Amino acid sequence: MIILMPDILVLAEIHEDKDLTKPSIQILKTARNLANQIGGNLISVLIGSDLNAAKAKEQFSHCGVDKAILVDNALLANYNSEIYTKLFIKIIKEQNPDFIFGVNSLVGMDLFPAASFHTNGDLIMDCTEIHLDGSILTVSKTMYSNKVIVKVKFDDKRKPKLATFRPNSLMPKDVSPKSTEVITEKPNIDQSSVKQKIKEVIKSKSKEVPLTEAGIIISGGRAMGNRDHYKILFETAEVLGAAVGASRAAVDSGYAPHSMQVGQTGKTVSPQLYIACGISGAIQHFAGMGSSKVIVAINKDPNAPIFKKCDYGIVDDLFKVVPVLKEELCKLLGKECTAAKS
Ligand SMILES: Cc1cc2nc3c(=O)[nH]c(=O)nc-3n(C[C@H](O)[C@H](O)[C@H](O)COP(=O)(O)OP(=O)(O)OC[C@H]3O[C@@H](n4cnc5c(N)ncnc54)[C@H](O)[C@@H]3O)c2cc1C
Repeated sequence: MIILMPDILVLAEIHEDKDLTKPSIQILKTARNLANQIGGNLISVLIGSDLNAAKAKEQFSHCGVDKAILVDNALLANYNSEIYTKLFIKIIKEQNPDFIFGVNSLVGMDLFPAASFHTNGDLIMDCTEIHLDGSILTVSKTMYSNKVIVKVKFDDKRKPKLATFRPNSLMPKDVSPKSTEVITEKPNIDQSSVKQKIKEVIKSKSKEVPLTEAGIIISGGRAMGNRDHYKILFETAEVLGAAVGASRAAVDSGYAPHSMQVGQTGKTVSPQLYIACGISGAIQHFAGMGSSKVIVAINKDPNAPIFKKCDYGIVDDLFKVVPVLKEELCKLLGKECTAAKS
């Protein structure tokens, strides 16, 4: 009798420079540890254009991937759900994995529901934890604006089990490198049969760490008062290697662009450290940052709701606290900083 070990397939994502994104690395390493437990293989698929096989091999190898499949075609430069779905499903059917994981990114949020439909698989989106109890896989996710954590068991062994994970929520142990087998596929795509056309992609000019990937975020609320005052947050973020976020009130007031908005109608973030400056802590804001590992609040109102949700709180004027914070961080981290103005 042949016993087939369950394989795990991870949809990897890359930046423009072809480096794997941080959330992809987190999922790949988590999946490697799980594959070691269940005795299966870790397969990764990367879909895009002009893929660099040598770079991919090196990076997948460090994540402990057994086999990487690169699907490469000029028409895959920008995400197109129609083409990507067809190619992703084809790979899933060929590889027949038991578990299919990806990042809860814009691509993952679009592609995984389609993949679950076409494979008749069970799907849980935006998970924050994963456990293997015997042979049963359990994932956790937050619901009702981070008020409830639900644990969901995948208990139908016959179906593929699909899950997307919130960036920065998985903290995998280190893995041993593998000599990854890299297979490059160059599919023929008949452009005339594709109904969905991408007319234009407008990329952000920002060179900063993307909010959803940042390990540290410093956010400003309505209290920032105007766009120029965000300068102190950007300066402090530079010292910390952090990204800068905003509340909806700040975005609606025109102090920050919508791309910086954290919350129910903005981005969902899960950094190691979230510093909320002049943010009251409304439930809709918490919905986007409540799974941060450590929350620090700076607010001059001691009764602000954020103080019920934070790990550390400073009751004072942010315009007094943040410059001092920046100065102290500069000293602590041994960085050259301009003197803070009070
Ligand atoms: C459907 C829906 C979706 C929403 N989606 C989002 C979302 O995605 N993200 C989001 O953030 N909100 C969202 N909101 C809005 C949310 O309800 C709050 O209105 C918003 O988060 C408030 O932003 P704020 O905390 O910056 O402003 P405020 O509530 O006005 O709070 C400002 C805070 O700053 C403090 N403060 C003032 N001056 C200073 C100072 N100098 N120093 C220190 N502290 C100071 C005040 O004490 C106060 O606590 C949504 C609302 C709805 C109805």
